[in-house]
Amino acid sequence: MSAEETLAGLSKQISTCTKCPLHEGRRKAVPGEGPANAEIMFIGEGPGFHENEQGRPFVGAAGKFLDQLLAQAGVTRADVFIGNVVKCRPPGNRDPLPEELAACDEYLEAQIEAIDPGIIVTLGRFSMNKFIPGAKISKLHGQMRKVGERYVIPMFHPAAALHQAALKPAILEDFAKLPGLLREARAAQGKAAAEVKRENVMRENDKPQQLSLF
Ligand code: URA
Ligand code: SF4
Repeated sequence: MSAEETLAGLSKQISTCTKCPLHEGRRKAVPGEGPANAEIMFIGEGPGFHENEQGRPFVGAAGKFLDQLLAQAGVTRADVFIGNVVKCRPPGNRDPLPEELAACDEYLEAQIEAIDPGIIVTLGRFSMNKFIPGAKISKLHGQMRKVGERYVIPMFHPAAALHQAALKPAILEDFAKLPGLLREARAAQGKAAAEVKRENVMRENDKPQQLSLF
């Protein structure tokens, strides 16, 4: 199955999922959207009012601000995958509960596996804590680190920055650093890929030479 087909299958499953109580208030599930081969994946928290109406991620006020932040970083929304840790709207936009996060995680895991992004930008603490458990966003925001084979960049949630004026300069600064962080991650990944290739060539050369008799 291609990554596109896997993502489409997941979206279909998500649209009728009843694994946690969040399905009760769902108008439309928000599986996330973007190219199946996206290099960068943005992961937010969960659908709000407008996302629940439209079935699309980050289309409300936080989405408008995210669009602005992406433009500032020279990132085109169409080139990245944007998803969430929970796919159905928590009532009144409350925080997702641990059991809801746990129930929905298999979809996010499957999306990450299908897309296989080199870089994940987490938006808000729930998404950050999936990759860096126990981390404090006030400490780690804007700092890239390697988690397994991927680079993870924790950012404040755009909605938090809209509601707390004190966070706005920080989120602007962090997104301004994004182009440099992306270059750094790409350079390291390019180097790692070249390293693997070199090792394979060496292994090839180590093989006993098969002399052809003909
Ligand atoms: N906030 C989120 O975390 N996700 C959305 O999709 C919209 C707002
Ligand atoms: Fe299913 Fe996730 Fe929606 Fe819960 S939030 S019902 S686990 S899709």
